[in-house]
Formats: sequence, structure tokens, C-alpha cells
Amino acid sequence: MFWPFLIMFFTIFPQEEKYAAARDRLVKDHIQSQGIHNKKVLKAMRTVPRHKLVPPSQRPNAYLDRPLPIGDGQTISQPFIVAFMTQLIDPNKDMRVLEIGTGSGYQAAVLAEMVDQVYTIEIIRSLGEKAEKDLSDLGYENINVRIGDGYAGWPEETPFDAIIVTAAPDRLPQPLIDQLAEGGKMVVPIGPVNQIQELTLIEKKNGKIRSRSVAPVRFVPFTRDTL
Ligand code: SAH
Repeated sequence: MFWPFLIMFFTIFPQEEKYAAARDRLVKDHIQSQGIHNKKVLKAMRTVPRHKLVPPSQRPNAYLDRPLPIGDGQTISQPFIVAFMTQLIDPNKDMRVLEIGTGSGYQAAVLAEMVDQVYTIEIIRSLGEKAEKDLSDLGYENINVRIGDGYAGWPEETPFDAIIVTAAPDRLPQPLIDQLAEGGKMVVPIGPVNQIQELTLIEKKNGKIRSRSVAPVRFVPFTRDTL
């Protein structure tokens, strides 16, 4: 049943076959080879069609291991960084995850492949609305998009088993710490605007916060005044 369907699909959409092959190469050469071993993460990275979440002019670059412009001065994160951050939260199918900084929707889609519900907040309306439409066109039914300032988190849906922040604040937003479940993990790049930031892993255990720096990174700024 499965193979004839795949062969038919790729006969009708030969371009999709090329993208799928490029995606496999990206995972093998840039993600697996750089130490990402979580099978669920690798499978999600092989599945999510990044080319459908970037502007048409960027499609030829969709499977390079690079951040790409998505308009409004923002970027879709580098695939390796998406895989790395996702592996840090150790996703499973029962989890409810909050993302701050929807951008293109790519990180949200990668999460949605592995967890129960994804809640994602974007401060730039045009980006958030585009991502919501693209994700729904791709068939994701477990991604909830909200336009707003992610600093406040999503109080109605708290607590979250994991929180991924994809824009860099200069210090940790306290409301997000408060919305993390007991035993939960948060990954957030912390540091000054347009400089190197520290990707930080935060864990809440017995009500206490443990924080450690895991890698130097460079993210777009976490803004407060765009709305
Ligand atoms: N996760 C995205 C990466 C987007 S870049 C992806 O996979 O494509 C970071 C995004 O964070 C930008 O779109 C930016 O507008 C958004 N952002 C910055 N500050 C924010 C805030 N306070 N609340 C919500 N989104 C914010």
C-alpha cells in the first residue's frame, strides 16, 4: 500500500522528491553528524517541509543549514539549532509546549510532529498570521498560534512541560519561569541585542530553578514594543 502511494506522489510532484532528498542529506550531513541522536527529533527534521515555510525566493536555500530571511527583518532559525533546542527538551507525545517567536512556524511544526500540543506566540502580526495559515495548510491541527508579546506567556494554558524561546531576551522573563511545570525544561538564548548570546537550559525541580549555559548562539532580539 505504502510504496505505490509514494511512487505515485513523487510522479505527480517530482519537485517534492528533490526536496525530500535534500532534506535527508541535510539531516545526515549537518544534524546527525553534529551530534543530534534523538530518533524522534531526526525523524521530525526529515519530515517537516521547510521549503513550504520560507518565502518562495528562499526555496532553493531551504535545505542549507542556515538561517534565512522571512521578512520583517526576522529569520527562520538554522535547522541544526532547531534540532539542538528540540533535543534539549527531550520531547514526547504527552507534552504541551510553549514557543515564543513563531516566525515562519518551522520550529512549531518540528515540535508538533512529536508532542501533544504546541502553543506559539508571535509579536509581529503579519508573520504570525502567515505562519498560522501555512501550518494549517500543511495539516497541523495541534498548533495554536497567538499574536502578542510572548513576555507574558500564555497564562490560560499554563503550565507547560517545556518552553522554547526563539528570540533573545537580555534576561529571563519571570512569567515564563512561572508557567513552566514542575519537572519542566526551558531553552532560551539570553544576552545582549545583536551580539553572541548564551543558549541556556533551565529546569524546574522541586520548585527550584537550575540553569546552565549550553552553547553560544545568535538570535534576533526579543522585542517588547512592536505591537
Ligand atoms: N521559531 C522561528 C524563528 C523566528 S525568529 C522559526 O522557526 O521560524 C524569532 C521571532 O521572534 C521573530 O519572528 C520575532 O518577531 C519574534 N519575537 C521577538 N520578540 C517577541 C516577543 N516578545 N513575543 C513574541 N514573539 C517575539
